[in-house]
Amino acid sequence: MKKKDYGLITKLLHLPKKKNPENSHTIPIFQTSTFTYDSVDDGAKKISGEKEGYVYTRIGNPTRKILEEKLALLEHGEDAIVFASGMAAISTVIVTFAKSGDHIICGRTLYGCTDSLFSKQLKNLGMEISFVDLRDASNLEKYIRENTKIVYFETPANPTMEIVDIKKVSKLAKKYNLKIIVDNTFATPYNQLPITLGVDIVVHSLTKYINGHGDVIAGAAIGKKEDIEKVREKLIDFGGILGPEDCYRVIRGLATFVLRMERHNENAMKLAKFLERHEKVKKVYYPGLKSFPQHKLAKKQMKTPYGRGFGGMLSFELYGGFGKGKKFMNYLARNSFIKLAVSLGCTDTLVQHPASMTHAKIPKKDKLAKGITDSLIRVSVGIEDYRDIEEEFRKVLDYV
Ligand SMILES: *Cc1c(COP(=O)(O)O)cnc(C)c1O
Repeated sequence: MKKKDYGLITKLLHLPKKKNPENSHTIPIFQTSTFTYDSVDDGAKKISGEKEGYVYTRIGNPTRKILEEKLALLEHGEDAIVFASGMAAISTVIVTFAKSGDHIICGRTLYGCTDSLFSKQLKNLGMEISFVDLRDASNLEKYIRENTKIVYFETPANPTMEIVDIKKVSKLAKKYNLKIIVDNTFATPYNQLPITLGVDIVVHSLTKYINGHGDVIAGAAIGKKEDIEKVREKLIDFGGILGPEDCYRVIRGLATFVLRMERHNENAMKLAKFLERHEKVKKVYYPGLKSFPQHKLAKKQMKTPYGRGFGGMLSFELYGGFGKGKKFMNYLARNSFIKLAVSLGCTDTLVQHPASMTHAKIPKKDKLAKGITDSLIRVSVGIEDYRDIEEEFRKVLDYV
C-alpha cells in the first residue's frame, strides 16, 4: 500500500516514519538541554547548518520535531512550530510579519489576552491596530492602508461565536499582499481547515482541544515552509519554546483528538438544542443551530476530511441578566461536576463568565461593542455522557 492510500488519522498516528534508536514503540522524550558532538568539526557543521543534527533544545529537539510534523499534517500545512503557550505563538508570529510603523487589521472579537496583546503591547511597540467587524468581508477593504501588513481573526470568535468568511477575507487580503493569520483554537482542524481556504498561517492554543486534557499550556503556528522558517528564527531569539516533556504530552493528547472532537461536537449540539428550547434561556450562540445568524456560512466552511461539526463551545444568556447568571454559575460551582473555570477544550465540561473572567481586561463599552454582555455565560462542553450534562443543566435551570 502506498503512503497516499492511508487515511489522515492513520498517517497522523504513525508519524514519524523513522524508527527511534532503541525501537521504543512510543515516542521518546529527549529531556536534554544540549546535544554532544563527535568532534569539533562535527559541532561546527551542525551549528552552521551544513550538517543535520541537534545542537541545543531551544533551537531544536527531536520530541518537539515529531509534534511539529504531526501538527503540520493535521492542519494541512507544510510546516509547523510549537511554543510555550498560545500567546507565545501569536505574539511571535505577529512580530515576525509586522514591525513598528506597520498596520494590522484584527477581527473585532478576540480571545481576551489576544485583544490585550494587540490593543496594548503591540501598540506600545509602535504598531497601528484596527479592530474591524469582519462578519462583512467587504469591511476589510475600507480599513486597508499603505502600511497594512497583517489581517488577523478568530472564527468562531471567543465568546460570541461570530463567524468570518475565511475564503472571502483571504481572497480580498491576498489582493493587497497581506499575511492572513487565523486562530483556529475554537473550531479545531477537525471542523475547519483555514489553510485549505486561503489562510497563510494558522495559530493555536494547544492548551485547548489539541492536547485536550487540561494539563499543558502550549501553542503552535502552521503554514508554508518559508513563513514558518521566518517564525522559527524569531522564536529561537525570543525563546518561548515548549519543553520536551510537554511536547510528549501534546503528542499523547493528539492520539485521541479526532475521537474527542466527534464527542465534543455531538454533546455541544445536543446541549445547544436543549438550552434553546428551555423557557429560562433567552438566547443561545452556537454556529450549529439553525437560529444562529451565520449558520449557513458556518455550515459551508466548517467541514473537513476528518468530519463535520461546529465545535464544543457555546454561549448563552438567561432571562434576568447577570444576577441570574451569577446564581446559575455559583450553583454549578458548588453542586455539580460542571466546574467554574476559564480555559476550554478539555474532557470535562466547564462554564465561565466572559465579562468578569476571560474578557475582564477589556473596557466595558468596548466589551458591549463586541457583543460581550454581562449576562453572557460560556460553556466548554465536555465528553461526559450527554444525559448527565443535560441533567446538571436541567437541575441548575430549575434552581434559578
Ligand atoms: C486560550 C486561547 C489562547 C491563548 O492560549 P494560551 O495557551 O493560554 O496562551 C488564544 N486564543 C484562543 C482562542 C484561546 O482560547
